[in-house]
Amino acid sequence: MPDAGILSLLLASLAASQGQALELTFPNEPGLTAIEASWEGYKVPFMRRGDTWLTLIGVDLDTKAGEHAAEITFHYADGRARTQREPVTVNAQQFPTTELKVEDKYVELSPEDEARARAEGQETADIYATLTPEMYWSEPFISPIAGAKDGRNFGHRRVFNGQPRAPHGGADLRATTGTPVYAANRGRVVLAKNLFYSGNAVFIDHGLGLYTTYLHFSEIKVEPGTVVERGQLIGLAGATGRVTGPHLHWGVRIVDARVDPFSLLKIAAK
Ligand SMILES: [Zn+2]
Repeated sequence: MPDAGILSLLLASLAASQGQALELTFPNEPGLTAIEASWEGYKVPFMRRGDTWLTLIGVDLDTKAGEHAAEITFHYADGRARTQREPVTVNAQQFPTTELKVEDKYVELSPEDEARARAEGQETADIYATLTPEMYWSEPFISPIAGAKDGRNFGHRRVFNGQPRAPHGGADLRATTGTPVYAANRGRVVLAKNLFYSGNAVFIDHGLGLYTTYLHFSEIKVEPGTVVERGQLIGLAGATGRVTGPHLHWGVRIVDARVDPFSLLKIAAK
């Protein structure tokens, strides 16, 4: 007889659009000591909150539309373990593409800038590849700018002189210089400094491979290594880095997956 956990996951009929966060939950059952999900080549543990086990997976904006699967492994106190393959339907999402023709001098970097940008790209990739096996947050995520309900440009692809650039991995929120920006949830600050493309940047590790990033600040208000609370002031919006005007770039990574940050606000994480 299937147990209640499997039934509830089947009934949830897992589906997400490209570039969305997906929450997986199971009710607790006697003897269950751990659950983990294997998704797109990595493993993420579930955390127990009261009678519920939960975790998050991210569907990258470039994940192929169609049927994928998460493998869920249940571990029991008597040493038993069983793995269940759960289909996840990824729905196609349309992202705009803009073709631009510009003089090469505007897209080519000096060797110094090129080296700096490459080193910083490696540094941020190393951060995203680090999965902290705990959950720092216990309340739903909030928008980092009071009252902001959406952003622009998530997934937008730009092609300069026929060369496609990486798609825009976050949402751009309207903000004038000096607008207060707040942590979307509780977490540990893992980067707070100036980056070549991103300007003054703050990265927060929320645990379980989930990171939120906040770019182009005029001023950073937190130190690396500190734990910030949900809604805590972390910086002031600005126009630092390679941008044309003040705004907040808000990004979310779940391990390697680039996810629309506003999809996090729909997650009912308790
Ligand atoms: Zn942006």
